[in-house]
Amino acid sequence: MKILVPVKRVVDYNVKVRVKSDNTGVDIANVKMSMNPFDEIAVEEAVRLKEKGVATEVIAVSCGVTQCQETLRTAMAIGADRAILVETDAELQPLAVAKLLAALVAKEQPGLIILGKQAIDDDANQTGQMLAALADLPQATFASKVEVAGDKVNVTREIDGGLETLSLSIPAVITTDLRLNEPRYVTLPNIMKAKKKPLEIVKPEDLGVDVSPRLKTLKVSEPPKRGAGIKVPDVATLVNKLKTEAKVI
Ligand code: AMP
Repeated sequence: MKILVPVKRVVDYNVKVRVKSDNTGVDIANVKMSMNPFDEIAVEEAVRLKEKGVATEVIAVSCGVTQCQETLRTAMAIGADRAILVETDAELQPLAVAKLLAALVAKEQPGLIILGKQAIDDDANQTGQMLAALADLPQATFASKVEVAGDKVNVTREIDGGLETLSLSIPAVITTDLRLNEPRYVTLPNIMKAKKKPLEIVKPEDLGVDVSPRLKTLKVSEPPKRGAGIKVPDVATLVNKLKTEAKVI
């Protein structure tokens, strides 16, 4: 069974992004970029399934600019066997990515597609769900445990007030939550090995996909600045202020 793992190149989670002065977006020039953290978890899970003998091949795929090759090399250093870059300078929205991935699913016929539950740059939380719809596959989102049993995969998900376990027929789409696993550290020998692994480059046109944006961002703005706190002398004053000023009790 092949596993396809889409990995997105995003602004590193440690970077505090700044809104551009013209409010058209955030400034990502010269900021550190990394693999989306939920996608690292997805690669780790796929590699563990291969190590258990459940999967035979792990294919990482990224859609975007040439530099996404670095993200794909990281995925291969974690343990993916090969990579595909769908190269484009165009702005890619989740629907476009889902269409590109659906075309790759049709071509590669993976048993599982493991995505992150959301990309930490746009926080869309849409691509996995759209892919499942386009490829007509069952989906289990926000996975905290994945167990393959024959032609089924059991996925445990964290829901309000407990856990839910779904049984899906393979092929299926899964999206990862934070507690699924702790990705391994990438070692230098594995980074060196990853440089020799195959990385195929295709264009959206090769997959017959129109990636033009369907949504328009009207405005991006900073959250309102928080005012300074105050010290209150006693509990009675605090309760009074919560009642009369903050109006929260
Ligand atoms: P989103 O729907 O944008 O929050 O992204 C959810 C997941 O879809 C990510 O964690 C990735 O696994 C995948 N994904 C989104 N955009 C891309 C991309 N440009 N290339 C590869 N995978 C992507």
